[in-house]
Amino acid sequence: NRGVVVLGGGQAACQLVASLRQMKYDGTLTMIGDEHALPYQRPPLSKGFLKGEADIASISLRTAEFYQKIGCEMRMGVRAVSINRESQIVELENGDSLGYECLVLATGARPKTYPGLPIETKNLHYLRTLAHAGQLSESLSKAKKLAIIGAGYVGMEVAASARQLGVEVSIFETAPRVMLRSVGPQLASIIQDIHTRHGVRLNLSAEIKEIKHDALKGSFTIVTGTHGTDDFDLLVIGIGAQANTELAVGAGIGCGYGILVDASCRTSDPAVFAIGDCSEQNHPIYGPGFRLESVQNAVDQAKCAAAAIVGGPQPPPSVPWFWSDQYGHRVQVAGLPRHHDVCVIREQTANEGALTNAGSVWYLKDRKVVSVETLDAPKDFMVGRSYIKNNTEVDAERLAKEELLA
Ligand code: FAD
Repeated sequence: NRGVVVLGGGQAACQLVASLRQMKYDGTLTMIGDEHALPYQRPPLSKGFLKGEADIASISLRTAEFYQKIGCEMRMGVRAVSINRESQIVELENGDSLGYECLVLATGARPKTYPGLPIETKNLHYLRTLAHAGQLSESLSKAKKLAIIGAGYVGMEVAASARQLGVEVSIFETAPRVMLRSVGPQLASIIQDIHTRHGVRLNLSAEIKEIKHDALKGSFTIVTGTHGTDDFDLLVIGIGAQANTELAVGAGIGCGYGILVDASCRTSDPAVFAIGDCSEQNHPIYGPGFRLESVQNAVDQAKCAAAAIVGGPQPPPSVPWFWSDQYGHRVQVAGLPRHHDVCVIREQTANEGALTNAGSVWYLKDRKVVSVETLDAPKDFMVGRSYIKNNTEVDAERLAKEELLA
């Protein structure tokens, strides 16, 4: 009667318990989450939530009644501190312990911290949780000048939200372009233009020499070797996330950058699974080292793990996809542009060879689409995703010019 215990109360955990019941799992279900809120969507935290357009009720994934109805015991606001794999017991920080038949690690990731700046520095912000977003939102309402370190999707979305709130924004990025890990150079350059048009100062290839903090005023002085020195009253760090692997490491479960799992999300211990941002998968299509931080990945891995737990057939591998919203523009990416030989630009405003506005960038390998990146072009995204899924052969020249057939 030990059932399934899931550690972590986020997107992946929520999908796992829902899928298990859909797949007729009838054992006991327990979710342990160290945040106080029931599982919620993180994407709005850098978007609508910061702008006051979303609140906890609107971003909650499921209601308390839902978990009650499916018979999942929700133990929120308590952290799991260790796993004893031999006796199949999890210890919680409040001294409780819990036996499991099957354990699912869905512990997510946390922001990488900036070296030399203590986490409790006044007016320094990271963005991962509802609590972070609440604090940042309050600070933004009083701030005039915001510095963001890191031009990944979180940094770019915070910049867009802050500009829409009337805050001056400067971004410092060591790479020569924005969103290096999420989109290719063509789309990145459009996104850069959009931000510049909205008044963001983009400091690319920035060499930050020093960040001075005035503890009394709570202000920051950023000294660079490339873009001079400037003062700010708020600092957001968005330099990526690291998987929460400590519980797994402590229990002797195989880990790399994430908790290592096979195609069905099983770890080196057959009774333990890992799903979502904390995992590093040997992916059925993309092979080993597959680590994605996206809602789609968290949801799909939860479904895979649920199927493996009930002994059902594995769902077919799905095409990875991701979205980002900035100033009302929607970026959507499907597939991974790892190896391509041709890049095709389709745009909705005629301007040969360069994407200047709404449109899409297609990456092809051996006439097959491996990835498509779109800006305000939902049809291109949908068609591209289905081409990737179905391994459809395409002609690059026709793809660039002709109407897409859905
Ligand atoms: P999480 O949602 O992080 O959940 C993990 C939970 O486990 C957390 O509550 C954590 O506190 C808890 N936990 C950790 N350790 C323990 C422990 N020992 N005991 C108990 N609980 C523990 N993705 C997109 O696809 N599109 C977007 O536009 C997008 N925007 C984003 C914007 C922001 C600001 C952020 C932060 C993320 C965004 N993402 C986006 C990524 C997406 O939200 C994540 O990929 C997704 O939330 C991963 O789900 P998860 O369940 O693996 O992890």
